[in-house]
Amino acid sequence: MSRDTYVIDSLVFAREGRQKAGREPVSGFERLSSLVCAPSGDVDFTVTGVQNNQDESFLEIAASCTLVLRCERCLEAMSWPVEVSGRLLLVPQGKPMPDEDLEVDEYDPIRADSALEVLPLVEEEILLGMPFAPRHEHCEAPLPLGGAVKKSPFAVLEGLNTTRGTEK
Ligand SMILES: [Zn+2]
Repeated sequence: MSRDTYVIDSLVFAREGRQKAGREPVSGFERLSSLVCAPSGDVDFTVTGVQNNQDESFLEIAASCTLVLRCERCLEAMSWPVEVSGRLLLVPQGKPMPDEDLEVDEYDPIRADSALEVLPLVEEEILLGMPFAPRHEHCEAPLPLGGAVKKSPFAVLEGLNTTRGTEK
C-alpha cells in the first residue's frame, strides 16, 4: 500500500474543500486486522475537507467495509457490515486543543498537520463503529445435544439461575 497517497496538508485540504477517496484492504490496517476473525475484504473511504464561515477547518471521514467478526453467542464467524462517518476539527499548530469539558459530540479535535496521514483516521472511525459484542440476530449454528461444546457464558448463568429456582 503506498501510504504517501494518503498524506494531506490538512488545513489546505480543508480550505480548498478537497476530497480524497480510496479503497484499501482490511489487512493493511494493523489494529483493525488484529480485532477481526479474518482480515478479508476492503475498506472504502472518502475524506472531505470542509471550512465553515467561522474559519474552522474540518475533515469529514466516511468509511464502509464488511468485517468478519466472531459471534459472541455461538462463536461462529459472521459478516458484519460497518458504515461509519465522523467529523474531525483541525486545530492549527500553536493553538490550544479544546478543553475536554467543552468538547461537543459533533466532532473530535485533532492537531492539524501539513503532512497528515488519513488512513489512521479512517481506521479510528471504523474502530469506533465496531460493535462491542457482535452477535447474530439468530444464531444458526446447531447446538450439540448434551451441551458439551461451546457453551456461552450466558447459558451457564441461565443454568445457575435455574438451579437456584430463580427463573422468571
Ligand atoms: Zn451466532
